[in-house]
Amino acid sequence: METSFIILKPDCLEKGIAGTVIDRFEKAGFAIVGCKMARLDSRILREHYAHVADKPFFPEIEAFMSSRPVIFLALRGENAVEKIRELLGPTDSTKAAKGTIRGDFGTDVMKNVVHASDSPETARAELKRFFRDGELFA
Ligand code: ADP
Repeated sequence: METSFIILKPDCLEKGIAGTVIDRFEKAGFAIVGCKMARLDSRILREHYAHVADKPFFPEIEAFMSSRPVIFLALRGENAVEKIRELLGPTDSTKAAKGTIRGDFGTDVMKNVVHASDSPETARAELKRFFRDGELFA
């Protein structure tokens, strides 16, 4: 069993599809073991997106990700990290297959509805970064 860290991004909430996206995760067998809402600030975004912080498009990501509150989820299930990335599809929504979350609801490479951890190590670090002790229920 694994727990992955998910962010329902500003475009997900703006489109009013948080419930639809969560339904896909639950139907795929993943259980919610953590959930909260927050507005991301520049300090935490620089930490979370450290691997793209030096890219020319980073200011755009920062503006987008802090444009409205987001929802953090911790989802638990078998092989959660890899399987949830499969449910999302690739980063660029225009290249994501229909039937994937990004393929069905995403706009482009930046507005791609959901963040999900890309490895078990990253998941552990992200869960620690975004949830406090006592906020996870697994
Ligand atoms: P993923 O979220 O699929 O793991 P990355 O870690 O490569 O993808 O990128 C982090 C986030 O940065 C993406 O989800 C997307 O919102 C944004 N992003 C990535 N590449 C670009 C780009 N070329 N232009 C604008 N935004 C981007």
